[in-house]
Amino acid sequence: MASSFTRAWIGIGGNLGDARATVEEALAHLARLPQSQLLRSSSLYRTAPIDSSGDDYVNAVALLSTSLTALDLLHALQAIELQHGRERPYRNAPRTLDLDVLMYGDARLQEEALIVPHPRMTQRAFVLVPMLEIDTDVVIPGLGPARDFLDAIRNQAISRL
Ligand code: AMP
Repeated sequence: MASSFTRAWIGIGGNLGDARATVEEALAHLARLPQSQLLRSSSLYRTAPIDSSGDDYVNAVALLSTSLTALDLLHALQAIELQHGRERPYRNAPRTLDLDVLMYGDARLQEEALIVPHPRMTQRAFVLVPMLEIDTDVVIPGLGPARDFLDAIRNQAISRL
C-alpha cells in the first residue's frame, strides 16, 4: 500500500510569560502527536513583534511526517494552543502560544479554516529563517524556493537563542 504520510511544516511562536519554555513544550507536544513523527526542529529564535505588540517573540519551526489530514493536524495544533491558555481578546493580540500549519506536503488549500501554504509565511523572517535552517532547499508550493524570499525580509531582526 502506498504510504499516506505527508511532510508538514509547523510554525511555533509565543511572546507571553516564559516564551522560551512554552516553545520547548510545544515541540514536546508535537513529538507526541498521534499518527505523526517529529522529523526535525529548528533552533529557537528571538524576534521583534510584527503586527502585534508586547515583548519579543520566541519562534521555531518543526517538520513532521504525519498521516493526519491537514484539518486534523490544524485541530491538534489548536488543542495544544488551548492547553497553553491561549486567549484571543482581539486580532493579533499577544499570545501565549501560536501554532500554524505553514505547509502540508504539496497541498494548496484555500478553505475557510485552513489556508496552506500559510499566506504570510514568505513575509516573515521568523518562519523563513528557521525553515531554511532545517532545509536550505525547501520549496513553497506554488511560490518556489523559500530562500528566494530571504532578501525581502532582511530588515527584520531575528537572532538565534
Ligand atoms: P491565528 O489567530 O493567527 O492563530 O489564526 C487562527 C485562525 O486562522 C483559525 O481560525 C484557523 O482556522 C485559521 N487558519 C487559516 N489557515 C491557517 C493555517 N495555515 N494555520 C493555522 N491557522 C490557520
